[in-house]
Amino acid sequence: SLYEHADYALYQGKRERRGTVTLFSEKDKAQIRRNANIEQALRLADFDRELSVFFQPIVRLEDCQPIAFEALARWHSAVKGTVAPMEFIPAAERMGIINQLSVILLKKALQAAATWPSEIRLSFNLSANDINTSEGMAQIVQVITHSGMCPSRLDLEITETAVLQDLEKSSQLVSTLRQLGCGITLDDFGTGYASLSHLHALPLTRIKIDKSFVADIEHNAVSHKIVKSLLALTHDMQLACVVEGVETPAHLQSLRELGALYGQGYLFSVPLAAEQVQAWLAAQQAGTLQREPSLR
Ligand code: C2E
Ligand code: MG
Ligand code: MG
Repeated sequence: SLYEHADYALYQGKRERRGTVTLFSEKDKAQIRRNANIEQALRLADFDRELSVFFQPIVRLEDCQPIAFEALARWHSAVKGTVAPMEFIPAAERMGIINQLSVILLKKALQAAATWPSEIRLSFNLSANDINTSEGMAQIVQVITHSGMCPSRLDLEITETAVLQDLEKSSQLVSTLRQLGCGITLDDFGTGYASLSHLHALPLTRIKIDKSFVADIEHNAVSHKIVKSLLALTHDMQLACVVEGVETPAHLQSLRELGALYGQGYLFSVPLAAEQVQAWLAAQQAGTLQREPSLR
């Protein structure tokens, strides 16, 4: 038990608190129980049936029109009910079964995207294992090439933490996707440990500024400056930039003033079930939602 607790504290320390002391607490004990619970439910799951994909629009901030949807995994476990992706994705990663989930989710996402207008892109989150192992990547590539969708309509989102597990390997594998024609997005930018040299090493086409910088952008001068600098950086590097977590008209206003071009967030839409996407697009096109989102 002591060994297990020490190992858990070491893992937490490496993940979140590098270079400091990490103490194992009651909170960690509860988290271990929760993790074991989720892992047990994952072992019993019928992924094809229980996993689904929701879609959240990414819009042009100028007129709030959609340019893409991000696929977001949802799991309704027969044993545990609905489990959030922030819980089951890391659990599947720990268990070494995330590839299996990614393949099922990507197939479902591509299937849904095939019914959308061809100018609307699909964005899909890859996990660390997908981009750090040749087998994982081979499976992803196979799903894409067998889907019939043009790879240039697809953006694959990767995170700094996933990339940093093995920068050389992941940049080499991600290049395979880029050569196929897919766009590569660095997700949650600004929250990880990436240095600018990492940005340089990866074949990126797009960056997503993390929602934590937007939450208080109109009150917090530091957040405002960070978003401004990140926009300038991506502009100089000729990368497209999507700002996450646009929740209020004031956020939208601040971002427009800063010259941000694309955004995503509850102000435009929450993630939608696949069946709701067509209706949402139709409503946008019919112009019923063309007024400012604040007036809806
Ligand atoms: P992410 O890729 O950064 O996705 C954005 C998250 O922010 C989503 O949470 C979305 O529902 C939420 N969000 C959207 N708009 C707003 C907003 O205005 N305000 C706030 N506060 N949040 C907003 P979700 O769906 O719970 O997903 C959480 C994370 O789980 C994702 O973060 C991603 O890292 C991971 N994830 C989700 N689906 C997949 C998947 O299919 N594969 C992998 N590997 N990871 C996934
Ligand atoms: Mg994402
Ligand atoms: Mg994100």
